[in-house]
Amino acid sequence: MAFQLEGIKYIGFRNEQAACYAAQAIGYITRKPAVCLTVSGPGLLHVIGGMSNAQSNCWPVIVIGGSSDQAQERLGAFQECFQVESSRLHCKMSARPPNLSSIPRFVADAVKLSTYGRPGAVYLDFPGDLLNATVSEEDTDWIPSIPEPPSTMASPCQVAKAVKLILAAEKPLFIIGKGAAYAKAEDPIRNIVNQTNIPFLPTPMGKGVVSDLHRCCVGPARSLALQKADVVVLFGARLNWMLHFGRLPRFNPDVKVIQIDISPEEFHSSLPTAVALHGDLRTVSKQLEEELVKTGHVFKDSSLWWMSLKEKVCQNREVNQRSAEDTEEPLNYYAVFHCIQETLPKNCMIISEGANTMDIGRTVFMNELPRHRLDAGTFGTMGVGFGYAIAAALWCRDNSPRKRVVCIEGDSAFGFSAMEVETMSRYKLPVIIIVVNNNGIYAGLDHGLFHDLADGSDPAITLPPTSLTPGCRYEKMAEMYGGKGYVCKSIKELHSAVENALKETSKPTIINVFISPVAQRKAQDFDWLTRAKM
Ligand code: ADP
Ligand code: MG
Repeated sequence: MAFQLEGIKYIGFRNEQAACYAAQAIGYITRKPAVCLTVSGPGLLHVIGGMSNAQSNCWPVIVIGGSSDQAQERLGAFQECFQVESSRLHCKMSARPPNLSSIPRFVADAVKLSTYGRPGAVYLDFPGDLLNATVSEEDTDWIPSIPEPPSTMASPCQVAKAVKLILAAEKPLFIIGKGAAYAKAEDPIRNIVNQTNIPFLPTPMGKGVVSDLHRCCVGPARSLALQKADVVVLFGARLNWMLHFGRLPRFNPDVKVIQIDISPEEFHSSLPTAVALHGDLRTVSKQLEEELVKTGHVFKDSSLWWMSLKEKVCQNREVNQRSAEDTEEPLNYYAVFHCIQETLPKNCMIISEGANTMDIGRTVFMNELPRHRLDAGTFGTMGVGFGYAIAAALWCRDNSPRKRVVCIEGDSAFGFSAMEVETMSRYKLPVIIIVVNNNGIYAGLDHGLFHDLADGSDPAITLPPTSLTPGCRYEKMAEMYGGKGYVCKSIKELHSAVENALKETSKPTIINVFISPVAQRKAQDFDWLTRAKM
């Protein structure tokens, strides 16, 4: 209430973890850290999952935890827990202000550390005795105001080296990551792509920095592009598992990597970096843009590289299209996603989590705008969806009231934070939740087989670990708060449910789409998480 009196918005979540996911999504979308406030002990421990997720994604967030009175330390106080120590591994700074007068300085430090350099999580601990103490204003420490992070430039000779390498490349490729989205580097990167006609691949959350519909997007030929590229420019993307460590068999062993990053520790990580461009992505991209434009370099459509990529893009689009046209029931993923994509406005913010749901959805949902896709991210976290969706919907309400937030969830992913639908309804957020329900994790069982197995002597022994209740009526949760829920088994039902959900303006809608329990991805050249040769 004290915060609200100051005009600070307060959103009360059902679980601290979801609150932390929401706060970091605000940080990602706006570059200003939001605060996750939590109680002591279990509350703080729940938030550690959130801090770890923010650290992995390089997103700013500030966590403030209450903790037991210092005088009761080691006496078994209520919810006593080593909170500063517990948090330390999962954030950039973890500290307890030693007294009241130092709090402003610690808060300023928290703002600075969460946003300067590589963004991340910060934890501040406030024991009960500190919270209940008073201090006169004259006795408080200096209150610094923290300016925006410095927008550092890369060394001009490194930029020149990068340009030379790009000009000499036979098979150049740009990879655009969520660091570019966070840095709001879309203008210079779009100009670079437009000018050079060099193919680009977005990472899952790098989608939309340059539109997925841009002629140079080779998302549908991802494997080929990675495998054959001779020069790769990383715009805010790391060569971690998501990019197969930049190594064989997914990358060409002779690939030369030009990397732009705010964090110099990131260079030479999995491979030697050919050209390290250390600095802020927006600023460095502008430098690169300027130098590339001067050369007038245009990578030719008639090159072998472009021709082979285009052929692959066409082939893969056709395969997806054929699956999308197969609307036989029970439905497959592609048919469902194609219908949703066609029914939704193009500027939606899309949140997605789940295994197949997220992976297949990423290839079907087209993002034309940056920071409009949020998913399980670098840490591969399930349960982030509703926290992210609440953050996105709050942002939309303040900045773009007609824009809609759509959560596309696997039935398993839905379960992690499902009670946050009540939070959405309390704050009147018209999020559209679509549960892609295949009765399980990766794949489930149909009704008959499930009951044959579950009715055995002990379901804990007989049920496959990946199965969830077939035909579970998740949409009925909407009845809890007087909202609408829909069950869909056909494309016609799905289309009309999404249209109705778009008319709802103050409550979340839940659409439960039953798909085939054995629906799969199209055949892949590589298994998921194919191991690099270490
Ligand atoms: P993705 O998952 O999209 O590949 P990653 O999270 O792996 O993206 O990489 C993002 C990179 O962007 C991180 O290495 C991070 O240090 C970097 N980064 C974040 N903000 C900035 C910025 N403002 N300028 C430059 N690099 C940034
Ligand atoms: Mg599932």
